[in-house]
Amino acid sequence: MYDPKSLKAEEFINHEEILETLEYAEKNKNNRELIEKILDKAKPRKTSRGVECSGLSHREASVLLACEIPDLTEKMYTLAKEIKQAFYGNRIVMFAPLYLSNYCVNQCVYCPYHYQNKTIPRKKLTQEEVAAEVIALQDMGHKRLAIEAGEDPVNNPIDYIVDCIKTIYSVKHKNGAIRRVNVNIAATTVENYRKLKEAEIGTYILFQETYHKESYEKLHPAGPKHNYAYHTEAMDRAMEGGIDDVGLGVLFGLELYKYEFAGLLMHAEHLEAVHGVGPHTISVPRIKRADDIDPEVFDNGIDDDTFAKIIACIRISVPYTGMIVSTRESESCRNKVISLGVSQISGASRTSVGGYAGYSDDERPHDTEQFDVSDQRSLDEVVRWLMELGYIPSFCTACYREGRTGDRFMSLCKTGQIQNCCHPNALMTLKEFLEDYASSETKAIGEKLIADELKNIPNEKARRLASEYIENIHLGKRDFRF
Ligand code: SAM
Repeated sequence: MYDPKSLKAEEFINHEEILETLEYAEKNKNNRELIEKILDKAKPRKTSRGVECSGLSHREASVLLACEIPDLTEKMYTLAKEIKQAFYGNRIVMFAPLYLSNYCVNQCVYCPYHYQNKTIPRKKLTQEEVAAEVIALQDMGHKRLAIEAGEDPVNNPIDYIVDCIKTIYSVKHKNGAIRRVNVNIAATTVENYRKLKEAEIGTYILFQETYHKESYEKLHPAGPKHNYAYHTEAMDRAMEGGIDDVGLGVLFGLELYKYEFAGLLMHAEHLEAVHGVGPHTISVPRIKRADDIDPEVFDNGIDDDTFAKIIACIRISVPYTGMIVSTRESESCRNKVISLGVSQISGASRTSVGGYAGYSDDERPHDTEQFDVSDQRSLDEVVRWLMELGYIPSFCTACYREGRTGDRFMSLCKTGQIQNCCHPNALMTLKEFLEDYASSETKAIGEKLIADELKNIPNEKARRLASEYIENIHLGKRDFRF
């Protein structure tokens, strides 16, 4: 029985409900009247509190994803852009992954870290090596990391992960600092989630990989990750352990994308129904080539147009949830999808263990790599590229440091205060980047952008303060925030 409030995986991600949803979407994919009604429901509306969006149910959203009427698909893209503009403006938050260890006891058939892969060298960073990686990342200008590790209770126990987080936060090199550590590690216990919370992590990220139970079990034939219910119920345990911000995702290519899309939105509805707050972010990774992994053997790969449509539909359906696109995607693909609703991208990523320290911008170690990175530009190049496209690269980490997590973040979004808060924070952290790390060309573009964008802070006091803080950053002070 389908029940979004249930704590049992197979009831809140209910197979029959997904099949019925897909049937309903297929039946209505050319139903102009219904699709127009759904698009109208999803529009941003002015209320006494600010601008609000209702979002869509997984059924409504699935109809949009299935829609085959070209002018309505165009309308969908326009609406996605409008919603992104309303809640995220032209800001794009920057982050980088940091791989701690590729030891893993699981057998995920799409991942080169799987236990049976004997060709990949295994490596786990020591605390000294973590510090060296962090210095290299700080020297590029990063302030926000997502740490990644395989699942191995002996080599990568929770205490090792917590020690790494402590090391990461402790490194203060020149003007650098990592101010937010997001964590992408395997599903674990409430007690371990509590330890992560105490270590002051930002978002706990766990990709479902696939919501299709039967496929899930085949794709994870052994190891602790084989347990579908334990994996699917992880976010509930994380929230029970006190973590407010959780990040969902599926690995596109494993199963039929329409199935995954419905499952993803059902998961978001479940979190909202049980915990009163939806996912903080949704990631949309696609399978990539890697040591021992050929993405062609998976039949469900999606092309760039379908990928873009999925992103637009997610943006319309869960308007307050951030969306992340990684360097798995090429520059041209990222260019296409950013405007449709993406709020965070990674830059200058290395997916190998120890891939940053001691390597120049165009030197890449491949031996311990998790997957091929498509976008191989430096952070300076990505920042410049974003600005040339009219975006503000943001290194902001203020919300969680100010306690604006979970539903408090969502209410900031809903009341439109984001423009008086996130916008100046983005400009101030960009200014830090320009002062400390940018090339002269990037700096020139950035200074002009900041001067122009300061005018777009609606509240006069916030505008004045932001200008003052930016002047202070130029004079050498750091870490201002609203
Ligand atoms: N080990 C943890 C787990 O199992 O959830 C999390 C870290 S894992 C390093 C991060 C993610 O990389 C996985 O959840 C998976 O979706 C993704 N991934 C694995 N193999 C991939 C591949 N060949 N191409 C793209 N992404 C991949």
